[in-house]
Amino acid sequence: MSRRPVIAGNWKMNKTLDETKALIEELKPLVADAEAEVVFCPTFVNLAEAVKLTEGTNIGIGAQNMHQAEKGAFTGEVSGEMLTAIGVKYVVLGHSERREYYAETDEGVNEKTIKALALGLTPIVCCGETLEEREAGNAESKVVGQIQAGLKNIDDITKVIIAYEPIWAIGTGKTASKEEADEACGWVRKTIADMYGQDAADAVRVQYGGSVKPANVAELMAMDNIDGALVGGASLTADFAKIVKY
Ligand code: PEP
Repeated sequence: MSRRPVIAGNWKMNKTLDETKALIEELKPLVADAEAEVVFCPTFVNLAEAVKLTEGTNIGIGAQNMHQAEKGAFTGEVSGEMLTAIGVKYVVLGHSERREYYAETDEGVNEKTIKALALGLTPIVCCGETLEEREAGNAESKVVGQIQAGLKNIDDITKVIIAYEPIWAIGTGKTASKEEADEACGWVRKTIADMYGQDAADAVRVQYGGSVKPANVAELMAMDNIDGALVGGASLTADFAKIVKY
C-alpha cells in the first residue's frame, strides 16, 4: 500500500501578515516540484491571504485549530465553516500545546474531527506522550487511548492525517530516534486497524512530529510507518523546503 507523504508546517503564533507573505513567496518556487503533499499552517488572521497567495500551487493551507460549532457565543473562536469559506483545506486538531494550555480533551478533539470531515476539511489530529509517561513505560497506552477516544465514530478514517508527536521532542531539539518514532507510529496504525480494519490502517497517513529538521527528515521518512512530518520551528524559514523535498 503506497501512501503519499504529507509534510506540514505549523507556524504556531509566529509571523505577521508581511512576514507570512514573504515566507510563502520564498517557499513557493522551492517546493513547487515536491513529491510530498505540502501544507502550511499560518495563524488565523493570515489564513485568507495565505490561501490567495497559494492559489494554483501545490501548497494547501491549514488552520491550527477550529471550534466544532458553526457559530455562536464562543468569544475568540473560529468555526470550520469560516475556514472552508476562505479556502482553507486542512486543520490541525488536538496539538499538545492546545491540550496543555487550553485544556483540550480527546472528546473535544473527536467532535472537532467529525465536524472538520463533514465540512470537507482534512484534519491533522495530534497525539503523543509526555516524557514522564514515556519513562514510566506508559507511552503506548497514552497514544492508544488518545486515538481510541479522539478518533472514534469516524466515517472514513482514511481522510484523517494522524500526527504522532512525543511532547518531549516538540521544540526541544530532541528528536525521537527513527526506531522510537516508527514504533509509536506503528502503535497508531495498529489502533486504527483494531478500530477500523486493516485496509483502513494500511491507507491512513501517520506523520511524525518533534524537532524534525533537514538533517533528520530523510531517515525518519524512510521508516515503514512514517508517512510525513508535522514541523514546528524548522518550518519558519525557507529551509523548510529542504524538509519538504527530503
Ligand atoms: C509541533 O509543534 O508540532 C512541532 C513538531 O514542533 P517542532 O518541530 O518545533 O518540535
